[in-house]
Amino acid sequence: MTVTDDLKQQIVDAAARLVGSGILTKSNHGNISVRVPGSDTFLLTSVSNLGQITLDGIGLFDLDNNLLGGSVMPVSAEIIPMHGIVYKTRPQAGSVLHTHSPFATAFAVASKAIPVAYEPLVRFGFHSGVPVADYGPRGSQESVENIKKVLDGVDQLRGLLLENHGVLTFGHDLGEAVQANLVMEESAEIIMYANNLGGAKEVPAHMRVAVQQRMEEFAAKGTQVKG
Ligand SMILES: [Zn+2]
Repeated sequence: MTVTDDLKQQIVDAAARLVGSGILTKSNHGNISVRVPGSDTFLLTSVSNLGQITLDGIGLFDLDNNLLGGSVMPVSAEIIPMHGIVYKTRPQAGSVLHTHSPFATAFAVASKAIPVAYEPLVRFGFHSGVPVADYGPRGSQESVENIKKVLDGVDQLRGLLLENHGVLTFGHDLGEAVQANLVMEESAEIIMYANNLGGAKEVPAHMRVAVQQRMEEFAAKGTQVKG
């Protein structure tokens, strides 16, 4: 199996996991991309229903959004630059995921950032919460510039909200991009419930640092078995 074949299989498996996870909208809308390691090319799903992704339904693109191999449906071609801009702006990004996860997307539709009111946001790299990139038609130059503005402005970030549209997450690999989407959606759901109880309370800035330090301390200690 070639590296590309292996990555395509990872995408198909991740799409199935996402559909099974219950964090997608009822239409299963979304798209997944993975950078081909050591290159300026990426694989991207070519249909918008993550329940219908097959090995043949994945195209290969360069960072200027040119199709190098495979095929892409016109409806998916619109969003190629939305993935490309993350790889261009974040050279360490190995995967990008876009969904309309409903609780997080509700924040995007209300044009409200997800506040750091739930500890996992800090633990999973959203130290300033989840910001909103201003609206532009999906994949348009305006939208892409708005995404870049957010990426350039925040160092510690694993994803963002697309105003009036949905969710965009990324990571070193596909597993991290999926994890970021799960954390965003779980946080958005819980914070929305908390808002019904009088309002979510943010984790103070110095405590966010403490969370990070504690994680680093325990990671450095490693696994210790008694006796
Ligand atoms: Zn979308």
